[in-house]
Amino acid sequence: MTVFPESLLKSFDLCIRCGACNHVCPIFISQDKKEFFGPRAYLQIPRIVEEELEISVDFIEYAYECTICGICDEVCPVGIPISRLVLAVREALIDQGYVPPPKVASMPTKLSEEGLAFGSRELKARWLPPDYKPSKGDTFFFATCLSSEAPESAVAAFHILRRFMEIETIGREELCCGAFLKLAGYKYLSEGALEEFTSQMRTSEARKIVVLSRPCLDFIQRLKDIEAIHVVDAIREGVEAGELKFNVSKKGLRIGIVGYCDSYDLNCASVDLISQIKGVNTIDLPPWTASGIGSLLSFKAGAKGIRGHFLKLLQLSKDMKLNSLVFVDSSLYIIAREIAKGKFKVNICDVPQFLSKFL
Ligand code: SF4
Ligand code: SF4
Repeated sequence: MTVFPESLLKSFDLCIRCGACNHVCPIFISQDKKEFFGPRAYLQIPRIVEEELEISVDFIEYAYECTICGICDEVCPVGIPISRLVLAVREALIDQGYVPPPKVASMPTKLSEEGLAFGSRELKARWLPPDYKPSKGDTFFFATCLSSEAPESAVAAFHILRRFMEIETIGREELCCGAFLKLAGYKYLSEGALEEFTSQMRTSEARKIVVLSRPCLDFIQRLKDIEAIHVVDAIREGVEAGELKFNVSKKGLRIGIVGYCDSYDLNCASVDLISQIKGVNTIDLPPWTASGIGSLLSFKAGAKGIRGHFLKLLQLSKDMKLNSLVFVDSSLYIIAREIAKGKFKVNICDVPQFLSKFL
């Protein structure tokens, strides 16, 4: 029996076991450099599975530990695209009929019943006034499936955007773009979702989409006739055009900004925006605190590494006596909010939520 395609196995075989990838992996570093959490160990998954000729639940869960930040791909001396291979493993497992962890396994049903990867239509309706009616327009705010889990994030972003631009949003009926399905390994379902989403946006006559979450932004950026940008970049455009200004903070806040490993531009834009607020001191955090666009998916899959990673980050914020941890993206914010509940007092928010307090 062959579980994984031969081409995939050959790529894994190129590894010379040098360990360079481990030493940049944020999860490996935050989890006390345990080999289990490093990219080098992920490369053993297919071979072990092929040799054992069976797949355990532990193996399937393990395939969701990587946060797909891609930083290990950049340092591998033999050019193994490790993060892409991890995604290929997830796809191969799903293609073969293996059942992923429960919250990942429920995504196809959620998509067919509600048109969402997670959350619900009812929850998705909460962040807009009940009488909100979307109009057609050039520019749309894409609140993503995250808006049903973090309405506070969608509200803050939309509120800021509406201060300086003509922007609509679809609201309750907005469809999933398929990004989280892709990260989960549902290759074909994710393509179908993207088609439906694109059709909905075209019907609304959207030419530009401002996206709440970067995993979704990355996925829809391949659309040729619709421009897509992250909400943080859109807000920065408003500030640079002189259409948005922030008030001074009177409290002398100490904050840490947490980004994605591979999002230099988004991380810098977030720092630039927050630096506009006088009285806010941005404290540098170590590089390992960043993670990848698949972090929320790993968290939903119950991965041990991402939970441990965020616990360590929250503990660090306590040790550094930070007032706030500000995340560059709402998908990271949701993880921290869930893990911190009742255990950590630091204020947790994403960039739009933080900025909205100074308008
Ligand atoms: S993609 Fe990122 S999280 Fe995944 S193994 Fe590589 S460095 Fe670690
Ligand atoms: S950096 Fe590349 S060759 Fe070195 S251990 Fe990692 S995957 Fe293998």
